[in-house]
Amino acid sequence: MTPVAPTHSVWAMEEYPTSLAEFERQFATEEACREYLLRLRWPEGFICPRCRGGHHWITKRGLLVCSACEYQMSALAGTIFQGTHKPLATWFRAMWYVTAQKTGTSALGLQRILGLGSYRTAWAWLHKLRRAMVRPGRDRLSGRIEVDETYLGGKEEGRSGRELGKKVLVVIAAQEDGAKVGRIRLRRILDASAKSLHPFILEAIEPGSVVHTDGWRGYAGLAKKGYVHEATQQGRLDVPGAEEDLLHRVHRVVSLVKRWLMGTHHGAIHPDHLDYYLDEFTFRFNRRTSRHRGKLFYRLAQQAVQIEPVPWDHLVKRVRGSARANDKM
Ligand SMILES: [Zn+2]
Repeated sequence: MTPVAPTHSVWAMEEYPTSLAEFERQFATEEACREYLLRLRWPEGFICPRCRGGHHWITKRGLLVCSACEYQMSALAGTIFQGTHKPLATWFRAMWYVTAQKTGTSALGLQRILGLGSYRTAWAWLHKLRRAMVRPGRDRLSGRIEVDETYLGGKEEGRSGRELGKKVLVVIAAQEDGAKVGRIRLRRILDASAKSLHPFILEAIEPGSVVHTDGWRGYAGLAKKGYVHEATQQGRLDVPGAEEDLLHRVHRVVSLVKRWLMGTHHGAIHPDHLDYYLDEFTFRFNRRTSRHRGKLFYRLAQQAVQIEPVPWDHLVKRVRGSARANDKM
């Protein structure tokens, strides 16, 4: 039993390892991993949910106990690590491995590197971590934004007929940053109607922003929703400059996401899970210029203690009855 002094100083510094050696030194024990998660969860110090007391101690089994009212809670309750039977140090290695590499990894890659006994565990861990890649209450994009849709999957993408080969429509928003791409948002949509496109735009883009699209009628009516809508007719050769790709930023994102799905995940993604892969791609893309990969690790760990745990049956619920297909992911 370790008495812990209450810390009321804000943990303002973003603490993260800057190299593998540093990571290994910093997170060598369960206690060190738990302590890190506790600081991420309660940056201003633990507050008892029952009596609001600020003093606690930790049992050998990792339970937090309020010094005032003896209320007990698991340090991992209400996080994606809730109920795990594996050491936190293994989870930390998973988070490091997933964020240290620019393109991330497949479930098979994670299983191998961590020496996990089951593919299913590696698959479930990656899916839990993907859920933590979306920051709750994140900002909308603003400024000038290019928006377009594309199909992902299907035979044209090199699918061999394994899994579901059907194509899935995805809408992409890419913020302009000079000639470059700023931040992005992606989402799977049912069709290219205004009914599908407009809710995505409202959720992803701040009103008042310039939304630049092609001339597709599904984008009509955005001005009424508070946007400045610029519709460019693509491929009009009578317009000077029209032979250039006027939506090149969003098209660049499309080609990168296709390459990532084929390269890292070999295209073998069930359409019902695609949203979470898109979240992972977005997480990586929006932080691609981070100087330290450790910062991605920090963000992932931070968000992993902020979101609700996801039980296995919930991870696979939309494809129940095809567990074999899942096991191949
Ligand atoms: Zn208490």
